[in-house]
Amino acid sequence: MEIFQKIGETARELTDKAKEVTRRSGEFLEATRLKIELSRLEKELENNYLSLGELVYRRFSGEEGLDGEIERLCQSTRGIRADMLSIQEQIDRLQPKPLICPQCKVELPAGGKFCSYCGNLVAAEKTAGAE
Ligand SMILES: [Zn+2]
Repeated sequence: MEIFQKIGETARELTDKAKEVTRRSGEFLEATRLKIELSRLEKELENNYLSLGELVYRRFSGEEGLDGEIERLCQSTRGIRADMLSIQEQIDRLQPKPLICPQCKVELPAGGKFCSYCGNLVAAEKTAGAE
């Protein structure tokens, strides 16, 4: 009887592990998707700035009737920046930033209390209980 109980427990443990792996890879995929979206928006933002620069210069050079287009691009730029911010927040939530030693600015592995480079005590409240 005991052996069956053991098998049952092991199977349950494996299921929990599998669930955890599934959850993590799901989060990883979601973060990857968000990063792709973020770099797409970065390019869009760059293009907006380029177009804006050109339009402002054309207006400076005396061309008229560009204000509407400039206004439209500014509004679109504002929207893109807001989207980028919210996507970055979502990424940070899925993949918390690694701890950084305030003294030597080195990225530290999660869970450590001391910096492995300078030995500085690192505040680690944020990562407590994460594992
Ligand atoms: Zn350090």
